[in-house]
Amino acid sequence: MAKELQGTEGRVFEEYLSEDDIKGIVSEVAQRITADYEGRNPLFICVLNGAYIYAADLYRAIPIRSEITFVRLKSYEGTSTTGHVELVTPLREDIKGRDVVLIEDIVDTGTTMHYFKQMLCEMGAKSVAVTAFLFKPEALLYPDAEPEYVGKSIPRKFVLGYGLDYDGYGRNIPAVYALKD
Ligand code: 5GP
Repeated sequence: MAKELQGTEGRVFEEYLSEDDIKGIVSEVAQRITADYEGRNPLFICVLNGAYIYAADLYRAIPIRSEITFVRLKSYEGTSTTGHVELVTPLREDIKGRDVVLIEDIVDTGTTMHYFKQMLCEMGAKSVAVTAFLFKPEALLYPDAEPEYVGKSIPRKFVLGYGLDYDGYGRNIPAVYALKD
């Protein structure tokens, strides 16, 4: 029988990716990034909070000369003229001329990555690519936000665990669980 978790208000989550599935996925993505970025001294940028566990596993599996840093982003709905995403903590690294790889937990509508990629290009990055542990292609609104390095494409389901939260909780669950219909 599938492993299940009980959420609030009678919600039930069912195991979707096991710890072994996750290890396999991370190792495959790491090999692809390693092959593409060897000799390019990339700067990895982990988008907090959700991506920190994926970033920790992924980064340790990429044995090339590189740096990693962390950002926290604030998203706006609606009326802002400066874009829909703002850096809550400033980026200390000079990204001019750098090959940047964004590490994201999940790309859903792609809004966050669309605006953040745009911001990094305006700051002078030489290239900006995205790796997302999970990707919901059916929800994507911005084609340019399709991640170059996808761990796994999933249907439009709410998922938690492996860094992803449910109202702030569940990030420490080592497997990924999906909300049952
Ligand atoms: P986007 O800007 O692509 O619509 O949204 C990306 C962000 O939404 C992710 O970084 C994540 O914080 C949140 N998100 C989207 N789908 C899910 C999901 O299924 N589970 C959780 N926990 N967060 C999600």
